[in-house]
Amino acid sequence: MDRINMFLVKYAEIGTKGKNRYVFEEILCKRIRNRIKSLGEFDVRRDFGRIYVEALSDYDYDTCLDYLTKIFGITGICPVTVGEKTDYSEVSKAALRHFKDSYDDFDFSFKVHCRRTDKTFPMNSMEIEAEVGHDLLEEYESEGLHVDVHEPDVMVEVEIRDKVYVYSKVLPGPGGLPVGTNGKAVSLLSGGIDSPVATYMIAKRGVEMHAVYYNSPPYTSARALEKVEKLGRIVSQYAGPIALHIVNFTELQLAIYDNCPHDELTIIMKRYMFRMAQDIAKKEGAQCLVTGESIGQVSSQTMQSLGVIDDAVTIPVYRPVIGMDKQEIVDYSERIGTFETSIEPYEDCCTIFVAKHPVTKPKLEVIERHEKKLEGIIEPIYQKALETAEIHVLK
Ligand code: ATP
Ligand code: MG
Repeated sequence: MDRINMFLVKYAEIGTKGKNRYVFEEILCKRIRNRIKSLGEFDVRRDFGRIYVEALSDYDYDTCLDYLTKIFGITGICPVTVGEKTDYSEVSKAALRHFKDSYDDFDFSFKVHCRRTDKTFPMNSMEIEAEVGHDLLEEYESEGLHVDVHEPDVMVEVEIRDKVYVYSKVLPGPGGLPVGTNGKAVSLLSGGIDSPVATYMIAKRGVEMHAVYYNSPPYTSARALEKVEKLGRIVSQYAGPIALHIVNFTELQLAIYDNCPHDELTIIMKRYMFRMAQDIAKKEGAQCLVTGESIGQVSSQTMQSLGVIDDAVTIPVYRPVIGMDKQEIVDYSERIGTFETSIEPYEDCCTIFVAKHPVTKPKLEVIERHEKKLEGIIEPIYQKALETAEIHVLK
């Protein structure tokens, strides 16, 4: 087992991008190279509309597969055995070697499917399918291997190209588009369940992610920040490195607390979070903000609240979980592996800043009037918070 040193990378959507296909494939290759370079020496290449990853040194097979199957743009990874195609005996050897290297147990049904792009090979596809099937059976029938042409457990693909390629497993990837093909976003990342999922969903469409976390020490603990970093790191396994901007928000929150009605604190605070995220987006060349808001989940996520919060910025705000129920977001976060971390008990927003009866139907004019009370007070605090933000690159 596990002596396979080559992988065929399957991708779907990028294949439909016409003339841009080349660009998309190159970006995907780059993503793959960056992701696995710590595991050994690899050659990642495009070859006749295919992407192959070949290990040139020792490497950890399981970790490599784990890394590859999380890269956006990849729909599947097939471990491949490569052989010469000088004559049929080499094809047969490759198929037998593939089985030996891929399975410990042969009690399953199979079918052979052959594709022959090299038409000079002296046997046609059907002949190759029949012969390979025969040779595999001869070797493993006593261990339970049998043929099922209608619903095989294992489909053995034999491709006669420049060489012979044999593969029989497709390990699913996350799909989506390679990160770097669709601009940049700044995601408002808190330690909850929703925003890591939202960050993942936007990154999945090929968007390079920055994140911003508003930290409120000493009201929130260092553990809360560590939790956000841990969440960002989990998402970065799919999305590539994420620059997390850590903003000290305490003074700004206190200024709002001291000068504005308490039932409007959350709305006004969110408006400042959005404004600062927009400034970060401008500085980083990002085109949009991303949040984990969902209609009606809490008082600051009613239609009226979302509208008033949006009004603080001109940049588009994307909320990919907007129409999802909490349970659906939970299921999603379990699937991508963020849930267990999200439910760790550290609060990301200090409780003294949460009103007992927050407004649920804020009016923009009223909020704006109350924000006026911050004029002359908030600007230097805002600037200082923006300028002292620390950036941690999560990967
Ligand atoms: P989440 O599960 O993502 O924490 P939530 O259900 O707790 O969301 P809110 O606290 O209302 O909802 O936050 C709504 C959104 O605002 C979050 O999804 C996130 O995008 C952003 N946000 C909230 N608090 C912070 C923070 N401290 N730093 C950065 N972004 C935040
Ligand atoms: Mg939260």
